[in-house]
Amino acid sequence: MRRLIFASLALVFAACSHVAYHDDSCRPTWNYEQQVEWPDACKDGPDRSPINISTTTSAGAPQIDIQYTSFFPQMYNNERGVKLYANNGGGSVRVTYANGQSKVFTLQELHFHVPGEHTFDGALPRRAPMELHLVNQDAAGNAKVVVAILFDDTTTAVNPGLSEIIPILPTQTCRYITSSTRVNPVKLLPDPSEYRSYYYNGALTTPPCGGGLEFFVFVSRAMTNPTQIQGIARVTPGPNAKTIGVRELPGIPVVPVVRPR
Ligand SMILES: [Zn+2]
Repeated sequence: MRRLIFASLALVFAACSHVAYHDDSCRPTWNYEQQVEWPDACKDGPDRSPINISTTTSAGAPQIDIQYTSFFPQMYNNERGVKLYANNGGGSVRVTYANGQSKVFTLQELHFHVPGEHTFDGALPRRAPMELHLVNQDAAGNAKVVVAILFDDTTTAVNPGLSEIIPILPTQTCRYITSSTRVNPVKLLPDPSEYRSYYYNGALTTPPCGGGLEFFVFVSRAMTNPTQIQGIARVTPGPNAKTIGVRELPGIPVVPVVRPR
């Protein structure tokens, strides 16, 4: 029986790595220091991410409805960051397209990039200190929707979602660890006074940088402070943001985000 349980667990873990958004292999053949050596798709792929957001439009865009719930994360530190897998416990998002059809994407995992990856207009004095990616997938496990949130650490604000996550992040690498406390993705989101996002079709921000993803990048930033950013960064050896091949994409739609209830 015990062997059967281990075998089942191995299958679950294999499934996790198989569907991973950013690959889960430890001690990989690529790193963030030598991004010039990443595959060409990362540097000049037609739909590559991240993008520099400049001009906007409102034509033909979908709407996203956030329906996340708290979950016990299964965490994995792959030496470039920690992923918090929801294993179907974290709720979902519903995307309603311009033709009226809607589709549900279940939260697969969330992770952070320090510093942020998307940039805005070149007008900011610096890149955002951190970016959250909430990776969602359809029932078939193929199509993916990424909800991206940039953080502002210029205040003393304490982000309640980060307060839940920072104490449980594993420093031990290359191992799945299940948390005994819940995290609530809704607590990570920006102030709901302005719930809109930029929408575009993009790609993975790690090798092999494959495309076919839909990105919803929140217009508003989530508030935090430098100590909380350090709390997330302490489990990675250095910066883990893709800074090469940032794409200029004029005319990004700004679309409504329906608040979590
Ligand atoms: Zn990411």
